Amino acid sequence: MKDLPLSIAIHDDPTRAGGLGFLGSAPAESRESANERTSGTDRIQAGGASRTVYLETFGCQMNELDSELVRGHLAALGYRFVPHAEGADVVLYNTCSVREQAEQKVWSRLGIMGKRKQAGAAGTAESGWSSGFVLGVIGCMAEREGPTMMRRFPHVDLMCGPGELDKLPMLIDNACRTRALDSLERAEARAASIALQGNNHRRSSTLAAASDNLEMLDLSRAFDPDRAEHAGRSAYVRITRGCNKFCTYCVVPFTRGAEVHRPPQAIIDECRRLADAGVIEITLLGQTVNHYHYVHGAAVGADGMELPQVGGRANGQRSAVSAQRSTSFADLLRRIHDEVPTIERLRFVTSYPRDFGDDVLAVMRDSPRICRYLHVPAQSGSNRILRMMNRGYSVQEYLDFIERARAFLPDVCIAGDFIVGFPTETDDDFAQTCELLERVRLKNSFIFKYSPRPGTTAIERFEDDVPDDVKRRRNNALLALQGRISAEVHREWEGREVDVFVERISRTSGSSDRRTSRAPHGVELRWERKGTARSMRASHASAEVQEVQLSGRTSGDLIVVFSSTDQNPEGLVGRIVRARVVGSAPLILRGEVIHK
Ligand code: SF4
Repeated sequence: MKDLPLSIAIHDDPTRAGGLGFLGSAPAESRESANERTSGTDRIQAGGASRTVYLETFGCQMNELDSELVRGHLAALGYRFVPHAEGADVVLYNTCSVREQAEQKVWSRLGIMGKRKQAGAAGTAESGWSSGFVLGVIGCMAEREGPTMMRRFPHVDLMCGPGELDKLPMLIDNACRTRALDSLERAEARAASIALQGNNHRRSSTLAAASDNLEMLDLSRAFDPDRAEHAGRSAYVRITRGCNKFCTYCVVPFTRGAEVHRPPQAIIDECRRLADAGVIEITLLGQTVNHYHYVHGAAVGADGMELPQVGGRANGQRSAVSAQRSTSFADLLRRIHDEVPTIERLRFVTSYPRDFGDDVLAVMRDSPRICRYLHVPAQSGSNRILRMMNRGYSVQEYLDFIERARAFLPDVCIAGDFIVGFPTETDDDFAQTCELLERVRLKNSFIFKYSPRPGTTAIERFEDDVPDDVKRRRNNALLALQGRISAEVHREWEGREVDVFVERISRTSGSSDRRTSRAPHGVELRWERKGTARSMRASHASAEVQEVQLSGRTSGDLIVVFSSTDQNPEGLVGRIVRARVVGSAPLILRGEVIHK
């Protein structure tokens, strides 16, 4: 098929001018010209100065990292981020297309925002709302829906796919300028507020990847410890983007494009900078993170620096021929572990079963600061369904991998993903999935009912023929099975000592300020916040001593909840404490701190 990219060429990208040093320098020319065209009464001005932005993120860790990079990029240009959409000059949704539910939330947000914009245009905006704000959709939904979304929701001012996020400042500028035009000019100018790769536009060569400006976004990352996870001590680092696997149910290869591997030195330098900023836990991200493989000398810039390169379909293990001239995932793990020793925990997600060589497991075994945790989706226990999913491995190969992993790493904790109700899935197929789960005894699983996603191969090839009540029944049955196995796995940890990276205050006694936070794996942590024991004693003679509950994770990603009467419990967040496991539940361990 002829390549017909949806992307619209935009030549006045202000971010291009400064090359690698573009952060913090919005070109004066674009700032002035946009200011001229912007209403004097309008709070939105060209250039980031004085613009406020509300950014909401849906989906996976990759989206969270994209949002962090966007935040750093825009903040360096003078934008100020606010916690509520109300009153913001720019409202951005970073979207996910993998699950229908996540998309529904965005459609709902867009509907509400459309009404707000109409009210703004009619001069009847509620107090607190700006008279006309810029509404943008970024991420996978923007890429998948394309200009269709702009037609369906004419109040959407800009769209930016995940492969074009470096263009976002320019898109916001264009959208601001467009607002000051008459309707005819506006229709024409609106095209300049779209940056998408287009579903047919996959990077097909090393050169194309090398010219990929997204690398600049990663390289110029503006890490903000105050905004970062867990008191600024935990961070994501991307090592690959995109995916070449083409599982039939998945839209990611179309929305995020071909797999691109970053140069190892760029990754290690980024880890070192984060460590210098106080980060002690790094999670390496990739759609199939263990497929990382960088061939040296294949993509080099004019300045001699290595550039990102497109990945192949082969597995990530080193061949004898390329071993000397390439960096495998195992090599990369070992280099980060050895060259950035202040990183106390190194994790990676998500792994692909077929690509897991013994070399990675050996490096994990020999590197104490690499976490004993693997997230390796199985998806189904039926070989027939795995073939229809185009997963590229058999049930036996998945079982062999689990056995190898446990032989190298006896204390490893493994999580997985399953999809139930894939087209044509029979009771027998589902029984095989249950049997697989019984055999591999994962610590937890992310279990999803199949829903056909537009743009995927499965929606074109297969009829969604498993009735919803059957999907629901299988989903509940697999959840129940996983619940029993999780409880057994957690019980095995009772009496053992573990190191816990403290992530958050989960609960204090009392009820003056009740809050709820949702931790990963669906564990809901209600917490209530009152004054410290000392302040309570000062103000209320009868105040009880406050017992604070904190939660964190072991190296194997098990959640540990423990109590503390520390007067500064917030000070424990972002630290690693030693704890003894004194109890367990299906999804958590209860611990007692031995020493901090
Ligand atoms: S490996 Fe399969 S499921 Fe994962 S991102 Fe790639 S295509 Fe999607």
